[in-house]
Amino acid sequence: MTGALQGQQATIIGGGIGGLTAALALARRGARVTVLERAGARREVGAGIQVSPNAGRVLEALGLAAPFQAASQASHGVELRDQRGALVLHLDFARWRPQASFRTIHRARLVELLDTAARDHGVEIRLNTHVDSLPEAALLIGADGLHSRVRRALNGTETPFFTGQTAWRAIIQDDDQQPLTRVFMGSGRHLVSYPLGFGQRNLVAVLERDNWTEERWSQTDDPANLRRAFAGFGGPVQGWLDRVTETGLWGLFRHQVAARWQDGRMAILGDAAHPTLPFLAQGACMAIEDAWTLAACLDADPDQPRALSRYQQLRQPRCTRIVAAATANARNYHLSGPKRVAAHAALRLANRLAPRTAFERFAWVYDHDPTA
Ligand SMILES: Cc1cc2nc3c(=O)[nH]c(=O)nc-3n(C[C@H](O)[C@H](O)[C@H](O)COP(=O)(O)OP(=O)(O)OC[C@H]3O[C@@H](n4cnc5c(N)ncnc54)[C@H](O)[C@@H]3O)c2cc1C
Repeated sequence: MTGALQGQQATIIGGGIGGLTAALALARRGARVTVLERAGARREVGAGIQVSPNAGRVLEALGLAAPFQAASQASHGVELRDQRGALVLHLDFARWRPQASFRTIHRARLVELLDTAARDHGVEIRLNTHVDSLPEAALLIGADGLHSRVRRALNGTETPFFTGQTAWRAIIQDDDQQPLTRVFMGSGRHLVSYPLGFGQRNLVAVLERDNWTEERWSQTDDPANLRRAFAGFGGPVQGWLDRVTETGLWGLFRHQVAARWQDGRMAILGDAAHPTLPFLAQGACMAIEDAWTLAACLDADPDQPRALSRYQQLRQPRCTRIVAAATANARNYHLSGPKRVAAHAALRLANRLAPRTAFERFAWVYDHDPTA
């Protein structure tokens, strides 16, 4: 710490995972932080997130190791299976990275622990505060998610496009807390599930279709539609789907990574800067990494425009690469016909002959340490 942030005022629009992590990171370095959040109460519709070690290292550096551990559940790996339930590939985190911490958590529990820690460090969080016009603050951080106003102020209006994919998500009660993420891949659809601890299991089910769904997370759907779309799936899937009582549905859109992340006074982070498809489970992880790096850059250099420029330089290439890798995964999960047969056969062979190779392809995501 150089003390450059000591007593500095910072205003953050958005009190989601990115905004709260940034608030905490800045406050720990001496800044006086205000968070403006439009929601009145914390209500997170059923959703879990996977927190890989790259983001876990930031939570640890922010002093959150113990509460995070208590609120989350270990994850020992990812199994890719075909729609009947037969194993295609096992990414064995526990074997290839025994020291690293892969965990899963309910979003509401992560938001709550960040919120508590931020308030404990003197952050003022104003709920029920919808920002319509941008405040004049000397340091204004846009952590305002997918439809960010700050991004628009920096980059103008951009139009994302519908990917032809929609996703349901649901949380069910489940005694099976085996610490594994399981992905079941069928033609034009796949389903991801992992335990969240506390007897909960997260389900995300993605289906390709032409009709459009709005890009927001609060739309609900009849669970019967989800059950119908995945009726042909085997293994534990039918048992899980039978227990779904409430489900959200949303459309997946492709966005460009923002060209301009800052202008010397304002900066964006998280989904405001680089919304991603969820197929690498890195949206929240990138927001957490951004938050750390933003605070570290501002702390290291009292020249704010130069510090913000350095922040963009450090973050933009990595986020661009992650967003591209998530997009590629979407294609690979949904293959059909002969392409699927060939791809699954190749992965099964790799799983037998060189199981570590498949894991190491993504090592650049998980081995990264933003705090180093
Ligand atoms: C199904 C699904 C599964 C996912 N799984 C994972 C996963 O496993 N791992 C992972 O890392 N990521 C995952 N993600 C992505 C992750 O949830 C997001 O990338 C992450 O929440 C982004 O955080 P954020 O703080 O940038 O934005 P958000 O969480 O969207 O927060 C933005 C906040 O800003 C507030 N806000 C917006 N506009 C205004 C305004 N004008 N005034 C005041 N407040 C405002 C909003 O109310 C909100 O609280 C998943 C996403 C989805 C949809």
